[in-house]
Amino acid sequence: MNITITENLTQVQKNIAAACVRSSRNPREVTLIAVSKTKPLEAMQEAYRCGVRDFGENKVQEIIKKAPEMPPDTRFHMIGHLQRNKVRQVLPHVVMIHSVDSVRLAQEIELAAEKENRMIDILLEVNVAGEESKFGFSPDEISEAMEQICSFPHVHVRGLMTIAPFVENSEENRPIFKKLFQLYVDMKPKNYDNSNIMTVLSMGMTGDYEVAVEEGATMVRVGTGIFGAR
Ligand SMILES: *Cc1c(COP(=O)(O)O)cnc(C)c1O
Repeated sequence: MNITITENLTQVQKNIAAACVRSSRNPREVTLIAVSKTKPLEAMQEAYRCGVRDFGENKVQEIIKKAPEMPPDTRFHMIGHLQRNKVRQVLPHVVMIHSVDSVRLAQEIELAAEKENRMIDILLEVNVAGEESKFGFSPDEISEAMEQICSFPHVHVRGLMTIAPFVENSEENRPIFKKLFQLYVDMKPKNYDNSNIMTVLSMGMTGDYEVAVEEGATMVRVGTGIFGAR
């Protein structure tokens, strides 16, 4: 048994609970996604035995390899940049795609989901800080993208996702999380279509998930903090 993963998980869950207390939130509103990219199946299985069901991966090939080896109630989340020509391959293995960064990608997902005769939950990725190196819609593109994507019948837009900049002090990212929360709140009442109910705000990683929870995250994506350095 890998004590480290078990202990790390307990610590991360405690930290999430404490952040919820500080911000008067219900910890049940926050889903921990264990980011297992580059890590072996044994590490994932250990996390699974501790109760984790949601895993984040950023490479299509890795998801295709790992998914059939995990118990059937494991939920895979695609969190990395997704190329349109890989959508069909990855779709059968994932419950949610967090990294939808263009209308064309959403359209490809729609076509693949229709073909498979299923619905797929997606999040729109927002490049809040406007970093050159990052994918995602700019904040002022979101509402138009949302309108277009909401007309796709097999794609359900559940909310927004961001990857905050790498910073020394997690407080530096608080304004980023506040801004994504505000975008999310502003979009909710528009109620584009009742199959597109917005309930998910995916933000926060190992370095800053506690701040993200304080600012309203409903999904945090933690890799290093659970599985150790990559
Ligand atoms: C790798 C990754 C994470 C997890 O990063 P850690 O710092 O190891 O917690 C979260 N989100 C995305 C999109 C990632 O690619």
